[in-house]
Amino acid sequence: MPENAHDLHARAAHALNSPDVEGWDTWPFEGPVRPRVLNPPGPEPERSGEGGVDCPACAKPDSDYLWADDHWRLIALPASGLPIILILEPREHHDNPAGLPDDLAREQGIMLGRVERAVLSVGEIGRVHIGRWGEGSAHLHWWFIGRPAGLPQLASSMAEIWDEVLPPTPKDIWEDNVARVAAAMRAG
Ligand SMILES: [Zn+2]
Repeated sequence: MPENAHDLHARAAHALNSPDVEGWDTWPFEGPVRPRVLNPPGPEPERSGEGGVDCPACAKPDSDYLWADDHWRLIALPASGLPIILILEPREHHDNPAGLPDDLAREQGIMLGRVERAVLSVGEIGRVHIGRWGEGSAHLHWWFIGRPAGLPQLASSMAEIWDEVLPPTPKDIWEDNVARVAAAMRAG
């Protein structure tokens, strides 16, 4: 039987560890840290567009996206400290990969590779981190996080933190990077 939130909290709240983050090559900060208090169990936070009701992603026009076809739409974040961050969504409201119809799930596999290639086409990209969390919006969305080549300190899961530690990529460079992705997506 799986551990529920109350069991986990009771077991862990007073036994938290402080991992040696200062020894991690990718840790963005200096100085010792200590874990925050583990909050007691509570209700799952509400997500936008739950059940497809009043879903902001469904309501957005294609013009907000840098590329779209009959089944998928690709949007860029407005700014980032990293060279490029994109979000891929199915056009129709689906919550998660587990709920996708088979034909769309097959397309999804192809799209993950296609968008990764488009990110790499920007140039000077060391790695493309692809993630799906689904904690804020209930409309399925895949993150594509391009981290700069030659700066492995910005790699892996810490890239999301470095995104806000680095100053924003200058607007003209950001817009050119987005345009390169759009061109690569149009080229197929
Ligand atoms: Zn939606």
